[in-house]
Amino acid sequence: MANWYRAAGVDLRLDSPVTHLDLDADRILVAIGARPDVRWLGDSFAYAPDGALLVTAQLRTSVGNVFAVGDCAAYYSERYGKHIRVEHWDNALRGPQTVADNVLGGSAEHDPVPYFWSEQFGRMVQYVGRHAATDKMVVRGDLGDAAWTVCWLDDSSRLSAALAVGKPRDLAQGRKLITASSVLDAARVADPGRPLTSATL
Ligand SMILES: Cc1cc2nc3c(=O)[nH]c(=O)nc-3n(C[C@H](O)[C@H](O)[C@H](O)COP(=O)(O)OP(=O)(O)OC[C@H]3O[C@@H](n4cnc5c(N)ncnc54)[C@H](O)[C@@H]3O)c2cc1C
Repeated sequence: MANWYRAAGVDLRLDSPVTHLDLDADRILVAIGARPDVRWLGDSFAYAPDGALLVTAQLRTSVGNVFAVGDCAAYYSERYGKHIRVEHWDNALRGPQTVADNVLGGSAEHDPVPYFWSEQFGRMVQYVGRHAATDKMVVRGDLGDAAWTVCWLDDSSRLSAALAVGKPRDLAQGRKLITASSVLDAARVADPGRPLTSATL
């Protein structure tokens, strides 16, 4: 993906912390990420270490009848066995559906497989799941081509995440395999000529 940026004339410098500014420019835009800023809500609420509101799987905060969704909330995920914060549009869209159900007396839980899509230089990029830096990365296809997929397998060979560029079928199948905690054969995953679902063990 870095090559897409370079081809578009973007000077992409990775692993280069900014220590000072020495630029000849009229304007400088500094955009170095986002973080929750909700502590002003006070001590009645419980917070995650990163400052997000800590909520249950039902998206309830520690204050009665107050719910939180989206980027500012770290919800308890049964799927991952811990509180997670997902900074994706899809997560912010689904959360309110769970809250509406619970406000109306239900007991719905919010635990979708995390998903985002983005368009980068005319390419459709979709990512589903959540992988750890230690997961095994398996490339499906040629990264120089217009369409390819990268999968991650955890230490039990379960599919933890898939990043699909112009590969909607891999994305859809990847989502099903992640939801089912499917164990996959890495060599078959790496073969783009076979459907991803045929890599199950
Ligand atoms: C540059 C950028 C690119 C992104 N690209 C993608 C992408 O490609 N795909 C994807 O899935 N996600 C992407 N995201 C993430 C996605 O935008 C967020 O996950 C999503 O918008 C979160 O929705 P939200 O409703 O939780 O929060 P927000 O969309 O941030 O909405 C919070 C709202 O609350 C308002 N607000 C804050 N404080 C107060 C207050 N005290 N009183 C009243 N209102 C207040 C804010 O003004 C804002 O309108 C991107 C985010 C950024 C910043």
